[in-house]
Amino acid sequence: MGPSILHKGHLHLEYHSTQASWIIWKILKARQYLENTLITRAEFLSQQNYSIKNMYNRLRGTYTKIQWKKLICNNQGSPKWLFILYLALQRKLYTKDRLIKLGRNYSPTCPLCEGADENIRHIFFLCPISALIWQKILHWQGISKPVPGWLEEQNWAKSNAAGNNSKAEIYRMPLAGCVYYLWQERNQRLFQNKKRTKDTMLGQIIQDIHYRGTPTSQLAKQFERLNFYP
Ligand SMILES: [Zn+2]
Repeated sequence: MGPSILHKGHLHLEYHSTQASWIIWKILKARQYLENTLITRAEFLSQQNYSIKNMYNRLRGTYTKIQWKKLICNNQGSPKWLFILYLALQRKLYTKDRLIKLGRNYSPTCPLCEGADENIRHIFFLCPISALIWQKILHWQGISKPVPGWLEEQNWAKSNAAGNNSKAEIYRMPLAGCVYYLWQERNQRLFQNKKRTKDTMLGQIIQDIHYRGTPTSQLAKQFERLNFYP
């Protein structure tokens, strides 16, 4: 014998009540999301056209997209340079601030300048040693601009060096080389107690850039012009 009508109705009611709780829970959750967007009730209600895209952007928050693909693809730098550049762009390098957060017992001081705490923004390129090297490499390729922190450098690159012209390519390759050499130097100072001077590092970076760039026909002409140390 099947369930009585009353029993069926009871089930139906229970189903409705579960569904209602779920909807209320979703509404409360949605309210919490809306509060996170910092949108006011009046502002929300005054919207003429509700836009999912706008709400999504507000929920997500504003941040600059990292255009790492444009900096890494079509970059004549060596694979190991590009790998370190990729990690730096993704904020995946184990800088001391990250290691300390993971419970490692390190002094927070930057091994390059020994004058500030090490983090990604400091190494690239707020550190006076890094800033000087990167500034010289920028001047060497004819770029005159202040050397900022890592995010600002990426923003600048996104607007000025993401194209396929040789000038943009020449910017991208030394960027990868410089990031690699600075990270290598930091590791050598930290783990092997070895030190190179700024000039030695700069000379090695420029030699490597020439070594990699000269065989590329498109860049060869540009490198003839850049046949000097900064
Ligand atoms: Zn430093």
